[in-house]
Amino acid sequence: MFDNLRNAFSNAAKSFGEKELKEKDIEDILFQLELSLMESDVALEVIDGIKSNLKEKLIGAKVDKHTIEKFVKDSLISYISTLFDNAGTYDLFEKINEKKKQNQPFLILFVGINGTGKTTSLAKMAYLLQQAKYSIVVAAADTFRAGAIEQLREHTKRLNLKLVAQNYNSDPAAVARDAVLYAKSHKTDCVLIDTAGRMQTSENLMQQIEKITKVVKPDMKIFVGDSLAGNDTVNQAREFFKYVHFDASILTKSDADARGGAALSIVQVTSTPILYLGVGQEYPDLKPFDKDSFLEDVFGSLDDVKLKKESEPTPEPEPTPEPEPTPEPEPTPEPEPTPEPEPTPEPEPTPTSETSDDDPFQGINDNEITTYSELFSIPPPENDDEAIKLGKKIREWIKNGKLNPGESKSTVDDSEDDDVQKHDKEEKSKKKGRFGFFKK
Ligand code: GDP
Repeated sequence: MFDNLRNAFSNAAKSFGEKELKEKDIEDILFQLELSLMESDVALEVIDGIKSNLKEKLIGAKVDKHTIEKFVKDSLISYISTLFDNAGTYDLFEKINEKKKQNQPFLILFVGINGTGKTTSLAKMAYLLQQAKYSIVVAAADTFRAGAIEQLREHTKRLNLKLVAQNYNSDPAAVARDAVLYAKSHKTDCVLIDTAGRMQTSENLMQQIEKITKVVKPDMKIFVGDSLAGNDTVNQAREFFKYVHFDASILTKSDADARGGAALSIVQVTSTPILYLGVGQEYPDLKPFDKDSFLEDVFGSLDDVKLKKESEPTPEPEPTPEPEPTPEPEPTPEPEPTPEPEPTPEPEPTPTSETSDDDPFQGINDNEITTYSELFSIPPPENDDEAIKLGKKIREWIKNGKLNPGESKSTVDDSEDDDVQKHDKEEKSKKKGRFGFFKK
């Protein structure tokens, strides 16, 4: 999970560790971090916060070159941790128990867009509450989407729960009210109310949800968002929150989420906590959201990180000298053309025998990488193999006299031609510069 986000942060931390920092370096690295975070679906508000926090800490700080990577990592962790803390927590069971003591059912309204996993999440929560020995009734208050009532009926049958439903196009608020009346008369602990979710921008939908809210006064409103939909989900959360001040969110499909930015963004945009993560399609696949696990997924072990306070003093720099950096060979200088039959001293790299420790761009300078990637609109390599192949192509291009795309077809193979067509201008400007990141 969350590979993109993890890479974005660890690359930034590593880049800071590489050299003596000047303000310009800090700006450059923060810019790279910004691009990576955007690609991980982190909302702009969050990115701005992360950047300015980090910049503020770095500019005044006297951090030793050798400890700066850890300093940056700790700063990022502390910022994100605080962001989650500020959203607070929601103790569902405690709240249900409070209502139970008053002999009242606890009403939970589920809101969100169709297809995000709202119905499945409602069923998962019903299962969870059932496991905790609460009694439940479900209200089919999405009377709009064809199939919505049957889908809920199927779940309630499997879970052996009561479903309150009417016909399609009936008043959703009336369905919710019926379910509440049922719960009151049967001393049911919880009412789970499904709602329609055709489009977040639809005024009608929001009015409908507001009406249900007025009629039944839910104790808890929960937003269901699809973590795979990235920024769309963040926008949905923002829009729903404007009309329905929900108390917490469920982020579905986290099991398949490589980016990880949605959780951060929703929490920042709504200042409400993520309560559960959907981690699969079965009823038990609902996991309480845990800040520390999230941070560990993104940053690795937190054992050596103190989360309590912002701006902890930096650890003393290690007095021990850096061990001699790497046994890696010095980048070979540009080969002088020689009359020798052997044109390059460099051995032809074979991708299979390369190890990930080798620099795939050995002997190529940053400018050459940038120029090549811009000329041929090449996206950054996703993995070592791609990097090795790219390095090989760039070396070939250099060898052939650094020709432009139009000047020489022979240096550009078919896959590059495809690439040129595939990547439009916008993509190009978004991604250029990431090589600096990739290059160790
Ligand atoms: P709704 O239209 O919002 O009610 O969405 P559904 O509940 O019908 O879910 C849409 C699809 O997403 C279904 O195929 C679900 O099985 C799937 N789904 C829901 N939650 C998760 C989850 O946490 N992980 C995975 N992998 N799939 C999920």
